[in-house]
Amino acid sequence: MFLVMAILKQPGSDIWIRDGFSIDDALSRTTHLGIGAHQDDLEFMAYEGIAACYESEDLWFSGITVTDGRSSSRKGAYADYTDNEMRVARMAEQRKAAEIGRYSAQIQLDYMSKEVKVDACEAVVEDLVALLRKMKPNTVYLHQPADKHDAHVAVLGRCIEALRRAADFHIPDRIIGCEVWRSLDWLADSDKIAMDCGAYPELTESLNAVFDSQITGGKRYDLAVLGRRRANATFFDTHGSDIYTSVTWGIDLKPLVEDTSLPMEALILEKMVELSRDVANRVSKFS
Ligand SMILES: [Zn+2]
Repeated sequence: MFLVMAILKQPGSDIWIRDGFSIDDALSRTTHLGIGAHQDDLEFMAYEGIAACYESEDLWFSGITVTDGRSSSRKGAYADYTDNEMRVARMAEQRKAAEIGRYSAQIQLDYMSKEVKVDACEAVVEDLVALLRKMKPNTVYLHQPADKHDAHVAVLGRCIEALRRAADFHIPDRIIGCEVWRSLDWLADSDKIAMDCGAYPELTESLNAVFDSQITGGKRYDLAVLGRRRANATFFDTHGSDIYTSVTWGIDLKPLVEDTSLPMEALILEKMVELSRDVANRVSKFS
């Protein structure tokens, strides 16, 4: 425990480990890793990995949550919470999700949102590199570059930098940008990574319901995520029957790690040009 805590920069970093595991075991057996900005992002965007590992004996999901939750919105029973009370409540929610989802480890790095958005947020990158060195995951779930939440894109930038630095000892097989604050439905079908989220519907509901502090007050992220997944599954193929019942779309971010000179803007703008081309072709065909 102390060795791992010693490599993380923030004194308030929180590490939850599955019962019966040592920290080193919990980190090193990780096969699927989600790295998200906020408490709840992992359950919304990386459910494919959580479900794949849920009842498996050789696949293990671990989560890293970068920010501290102190700037979260608060309504209803939480309206009078101080920033620190909110931080504690949100960290507890994330730990509970890890327990329900049978994660191997859940690490909360405890950075303020504004710290992560600073260009040279070296400490976050170093924390991530240290954890990647211990985990060496096969699949990594990240935010995606066209997300409209500043903190999500800032965290994504830190993650890509960390994966690039870690590339000399490990490059995950799959590095996937996932939809949260903007869908990826607009990608060309050939660019979409389909992440099947149909397994264990009762687990999905339990995980989403954990984040009471954000759902309270009428912001029904839990229902919105389920609706998006269902819509993704049905609106994928205009003619065929539904292959899936619940899908999250992802975008392949591995090229950013394999080619360290490739700017993230270039990768995502090229996909947007594809969308422009597709729309223009169809409109011109029928006008
Ligand atoms: Zn978020």
